[in-house]
Amino acid sequence: MSSPNVAVVGGGIAGCSAAWFLRQALGEGASLTVYERDSQLGGRLATLDVGGTPVESGGTIIHETNRYLANFVDHLALERVEPHQREEGDADSVGVWDGRRFAFRTRNSVLMTRLAAVLSFGVVAPLRLQRAVARGVEQWNQVYEHLERGTAFDSPAALCSELGLAELLYKDGRQWLADSGVRGRFVDQYATPVGRIMYGQDVSMNGLATSIALAGAGLAGSLFSVGGGNRRVCEGLVSDAGAMLQTGTEVAGVSREGAGFTVRLSEGRSVSHDVVVLATPAGPVALALSGVEPPESALRARPFQITWATFIKGTPRAEYFGLARAGDLPDTVLTVEDDTIPFSSLGLVATSTDGALVYKLFSRDPVAESLLDQLFCSRDALEQIRWEAYPVLRPSDDVPPFRLADGLYWVNAMEFAVSTMETEAVAARNVANLVAAQLASSS
Ligand SMILES: Cc1cc2nc3c(=O)[nH]c(=O)nc-3n(C[C@H](O)[C@H](O)[C@H](O)COP(=O)(O)OP(=O)(O)OC[C@H]3O[C@@H](n4cnc5c(N)ncnc54)[C@H](O)[C@@H]3O)c2cc1C
Repeated sequence: MSSPNVAVVGGGIAGCSAAWFLRQALGEGASLTVYERDSQLGGRLATLDVGGTPVESGGTIIHETNRYLANFVDHLALERVEPHQREEGDADSVGVWDGRRFAFRTRNSVLMTRLAAVLSFGVVAPLRLQRAVARGVEQWNQVYEHLERGTAFDSPAALCSELGLAELLYKDGRQWLADSGVRGRFVDQYATPVGRIMYGQDVSMNGLATSIALAGAGLAGSLFSVGGGNRRVCEGLVSDAGAMLQTGTEVAGVSREGAGFTVRLSEGRSVSHDVVVLATPAGPVALALSGVEPPESALRARPFQITWATFIKGTPRAEYFGLARAGDLPDTVLTVEDDTIPFSSLGLVATSTDGALVYKLFSRDPVAESLLDQLFCSRDALEQIRWEAYPVLRPSDDVPPFRLADGLYWVNAMEFAVSTMETEAVAARNVANLVAAQLASSS
């Protein structure tokens, strides 16, 4: 088919990168339409104004080895910035709060931090973890060679299997760490707190998500965000792909019509397409489908982890953490898994132009005023967002497939293995390869 007409449903990073990769794979003759329910692109990439200071309210951190995201940013001539806008030259300090005291905290110098880590966790566990994470990143990075060659995987499980990472899907993080020789205190006071800030989940999530969370914590390589907001990548990709963009347009259903599909919009219109790419977290479960029978595992509703992101412009109360001055508080407070701790993390995310500090509090439940009063002695701006943030990433050998039927694909199947901007972009490239292979075989 020389001029296929492809629908992409969803305008988050998955849908926008799918549109971009589809343009590369199918050429200028293809007609691409992105349907996005909201009034703007981005989905879980969004910026928020907190008392005059813009902050990332959803996906924030991009790892330097995230090849597709890094390429998008460079190709679109966007700027790389520090993930959290601080005073020039300020190093990030981190503390792990166990509900009574800081079980571990970084120091002013690298040497002192290393010494503190050795005293808390010993020499061996951190080294082993660093090696295991670096090995995982190296294995994962082989995916780019496969995809650039045009390989197309039917499912995240097949993709992980090719990379030698399949067992990380059905093994939990604690087991993966134990198999890497990392046990005990370091797991509970480092790996779990990282899982809690990254995914609101502890090391009972699958090994792949655990290892990627630890890589995202800066254990291997450096981190960045996009100047002006990560969602600018989405806007840039759709525009660069020359895709037709229909914002404020919800897709209600997809029906097979002959060799192609009819996409039914909530507003009542129907549009014909040769191929449909779903790039929404719920995928086929949330759509009325007819004439197609996706595999059963794609039709099961799966739970998402709720993360409340609360942004506070104000001054933290040092006494809550047993400290004398607010200035003694680590920039990022991680927490151990303990039901009595009412939040997952508290991090300094920006310094406003008037010098005030903006904090981000992650929690599994909405934050009560009384907790804010305990944590902050003064606050002059408050914003709260409830995210259906990422799947509950339980170990499973039942991750849904990318291929739902010939001509119907689902990028976000990837999320049930691991959910990051980059892995969504990888899944999008894979789906573009699936579409190209199918169109080539049917022409
Ligand atoms: C608080 C938080 C922090 C995070 N931190 C990081 C991080 O630091 N680094 C990282 O890499 N990842 C992070 N993530 C994860 C990352 O944001 C997601 O993996 C990624 O943004 C998912 O993109 P997506 O396009 O797959 O889905 P989404 O961004 O959810 O996009 C789906 C889009 O589809 C649209 N849609 C849904 N249904 C329909 C329909 N029927 N018709 C039309 N449109 C529809 C939605 O409106 C939405 O815009 C974080 C996520 C959250 C919530």
